[in-house]
Amino acid sequence: MPILCKAECGNKATLKRPKTADALCKNCFFNAFELEIHETITRSHLFKPGQRVAIAASGGKDSTVLAHVMKLLNEKFNYGLKLVLLSIDEGITGYRDDSLETVKQNRDDYEMELKILSYEELYGWTMDRIVEKIGRTNNCTFCGVFRRQALDRGAQLLKVDCVATGHNADDIAETVLMNILRGDTARLRRCTDIKTGGAENSIPRVKPLKYTYEKEIVMYAHFKKLVYFSTECIFAPNAYRGHARAFLKDLEKIRPSVIMDIIHSGEQLQIRESVKKPIRGICSNCGFVSSCQPCKACVLLEGLNRSLPKLGIGKRSKSEKMKAQQDLERQVILREKANLVKNDF
Ligand code: SF4
Repeated sequence: MPILCKAECGNKATLKRPKTADALCKNCFFNAFELEIHETITRSHLFKPGQRVAIAASGGKDSTVLAHVMKLLNEKFNYGLKLVLLSIDEGITGYRDDSLETVKQNRDDYEMELKILSYEELYGWTMDRIVEKIGRTNNCTFCGVFRRQALDRGAQLLKVDCVATGHNADDIAETVLMNILRGDTARLRRCTDIKTGGAENSIPRVKPLKYTYEKEIVMYAHFKKLVYFSTECIFAPNAYRGHARAFLKDLEKIRPSVIMDIIHSGEQLQIRESVKKPIRGICSNCGFVSSCQPCKACVLLEGLNRSLPKLGIGKRSKSEKMKAQQDLERQVILREKANLVKNDF
């Protein structure tokens, strides 16, 4: 006996939703998927009518689905947004050059303006050359820092009001786990925020797919026959995130709600007021948003240009800092005891 769609449309169910385990037909899945994103957008007041919004487009599944759904919802619910695509070309041969072809396809399919900014034009370096110089250990640090700033620069050039990124629920749950494991309370505090930036003249970033499961994004792209690029970056070691991802996938097998549970835990966490918060300001060197002086992008770039690629790399871990603090305290106690002994004579 065929299983009927849970949405009571009368059709046969053809899939099981990973997020809710509901048996649905394709059309009711599309509907539920799109409406959930619409609800996230409206409940969190992500956009205002008349805004110009850049979609950070990499050609991967997340940003391709984001562009598709944003266009659809903008038209269906009259958001009144002007949508444009913003891509960053890190200069990774065999990876980014191919995925940018997919972004160009999105530009044509969705009739959106596209701006591509490259590391080469912004920093005078491609990731291929950076890896040649520094090897494959810290490449993602350079790439991540440069990309964050490149998106800010691109957004400024495009004169947009905000940038929408394709971070999905799995990405956010992984980041919560990673920040807990690293003891990075500053990042833990803000990694579940659906909207970041916006102060100090910076352009806000929003995550409309914050509560959307990765498995459902893949399912949606597959059934909608969306064209996306699925090859992994050739320089992708990022072992730490890989472990967090594998751990999360294992947990998900025994408790499918774990992704939402971790996001919820991250949202409810309260960090003591006495914990130091990074103070956002403007880099005195390049003029872009930063919580240190000069900004990390300027320090890394200087290191590359002066052939000192370790400059700005290798922040001590929390446990090393704690151990150093304990050693210092022990030395003070020993010194005080020695003084007491001396004073006894
Ligand atoms: Fe950049 Fe690392 Fe991502 Fe590759 S895996 S695109 S090098 S951050």
